[in-house]
Amino acid sequence: MDEGKIFPLPAMEAVVTKEGAMETAARRGVALPGRVGDVRRGNLALVLKGIAAAGPGLAPTRAQLAAANGLTKASVSSLVADLIESGLIRELGLNRDGERGRPGVGLQLNPQRAVIGLEINVDYLAAGLVDLNGALRFHTSEEAQNSGADPRSVIKQISRLLEPVLKAAGDTGTQILGGGLAVPGLVDSAGRTIVSAPNLHWSSVTLEVRDLLPAAAFDVLLSNEANSAALAELWYGRGRELHDFVFVSGEVGVGAGLVVASELFVGPQGYAGELGHVVVHPDGPDCSCGGRGCLETFAGLEAILSAAGIAASPVSVRLTGLLDALRNGEGHAVTAVENAGRYLGLALVSAARIMDLPAVVLGGHFALLGDWIRPALQRSLEIHAPGLLESESVMLSTLDQSAALLGAAGGAIQSILESPHVLIPAAARGYGSPVACSSRTTARP
Ligand SMILES: [Zn+2]
Repeated sequence: MDEGKIFPLPAMEAVVTKEGAMETAARRGVALPGRVGDVRRGNLALVLKGIAAAGPGLAPTRAQLAAANGLTKASVSSLVADLIESGLIRELGLNRDGERGRPGVGLQLNPQRAVIGLEINVDYLAAGLVDLNGALRFHTSEEAQNSGADPRSVIKQISRLLEPVLKAAGDTGTQILGGGLAVPGLVDSAGRTIVSAPNLHWSSVTLEVRDLLPAAAFDVLLSNEANSAALAELWYGRGRELHDFVFVSGEVGVGAGLVVASELFVGPQGYAGELGHVVVHPDGPDCSCGGRGCLETFAGLEAILSAAGIAASPVSVRLTGLLDALRNGEGHAVTAVENAGRYLGLALVSAARIMDLPAVVLGGHFALLGDWIRPALQRSLEIHAPGLLESESVMLSTLDQSAALLGAAGGAIQSILESPHVLIPAAARGYGSPVACSSRTTARP
């Protein structure tokens, strides 16, 4: 747990664009609806997404954006003027359009516009400030016993945790536009209600998240923590080189996010990826879901710590104790982690067989325990499905413990990129009435 870590703003120097940067943006273009206001809204989002897709190291010019998106330079100039006024982008020095072109002014997302990423988990809370490029600018977390807690008191607690984050934003002149909150449970498709979170003992809970950021233009949206962490992995982690993978989230609960063709697969009801409740032993222990023998009862953090005989609290102290015990080769600890790896391997065989997913990214405590858990996991894969998943296809996350928070923030950034017209006050400019959009897609924000 940390009391607040500040990360520096990026350098303000001009950057140079490259040929090809805009092709990526063009490929991510949106279909334009018919009405004039809708067309202008669509084009505004198209131009903004073009700038975002170029990334923080590149700064496309108006001419490049026009060419890449099939728009006139005059139209792009007008849209860019609105985006600059909204504060979402900034101009950045002179930039040459290839060898023959006149120098143009580069455009970049404004690093002083940001969103909040939040996470409620069974044993901790976390909050972070994330700029529009997905860079974590400030992070804080604290231990909390949220299992069985009153949801309103948890929201109050996370509201307190938010204070240093808001201060960090204020200190750097950063305006917060929205936010995302990852929770260890199933969330309805509108991102408003927790349908079920067995490890929190919450069911049909609607959190008053709007009160967390009352001044923000975009709502705070709820998301499942494993799905959010998988998206963070896709956008900012291992997934940048993978198109198809399963991300396994190891917390007190075990969850998974399935990424297929660079899109999160959530199933028709949005509940896919419940790897923690795949049955790996028909006579196994009772599970919080009401079933028995689920993966979580062997590989959840609490299950591993109990099996290792490590009883101290809080959980972070116990995790340190577990790592010490593993380094010292203590029998109970080694056996507990080997068992977790073995059963995790069994569940992954089923997941990979059903979904035809060629790679696995292990997050949360599975990443921390990687050196000890991987040999048993690998043996399990070789015994039950030889050749299905090679050892190099099973990777450890590099996003530390902030993946879920980053993914929740990335979802909020996505909403902003889809609907920048919300931030432009003059409806008279032809964008129609501002309606906040909460739709989620998985194109990189
Ligand atoms: Zn279960």
